Amino acid sequence: MDLKQAHELALSLMTEHGLIAGGWLLRWGNGRRQFGVCEIKHTRNRRTGKTTTTRTIRLSRHLALLNTDAEVRDTILHEIAHALAGTKHGHDEVWKQTCRRIGANPRRLMDDTVHTPAARYQLTCPSCRKVLANRHRVMRESHLRRAYCRWCGPDTMGKLLMTDTMQP
Ligand SMILES: [Zn+2]
Ligand SMILES: [Zn+2]
Repeated sequence: MDLKQAHELALSLMTEHGLIAGGWLLRWGNGRRQFGVCEIKHTRNRRTGKTTTTRTIRLSRHLALLNTDAEVRDTILHEIAHALAGTKHGHDEVWKQTCRRIGANPRRLMDDTVHTPAARYQLTCPSCRKVLANRHRVMRESHLRRAYCRWCGPDTMGKLLMTDTMQP
């Protein structure tokens, strides 16, 4: 499918299902194995402490070019269903129901396996400030005490910070 047409199709379907109004973005990606990704990311501004959430549907340029209109359309709907159902549902019943409702084929699970639900907690190094991990749950105290930054070394053991990105 032509990229310009694919872009227009994606935008119109995202508009129809309320994603554009909900602040979702459409982006092209360069992945060759993954056709579409539905992702929600929380980024915390270290200076202001404010958390911003970005919701994105990303489509592979290469795969959009290689596939037929019907396949591209189905991939877009597949990702829209993830956005509507909530990314944490993966390919479960809730997601399948959403697929049926919006006309996506729930059986077709082309290699889009990585759906990244929002990770709430961030493990950061107080010394180099790198984000070392994004997690869905708080790390256990006993693990946190033994963890250290692989860039800064064992001196940082027990000093890593677990921050809740949902907290203001
Ligand atoms: Zn999927
Ligand atoms: Zn470090």
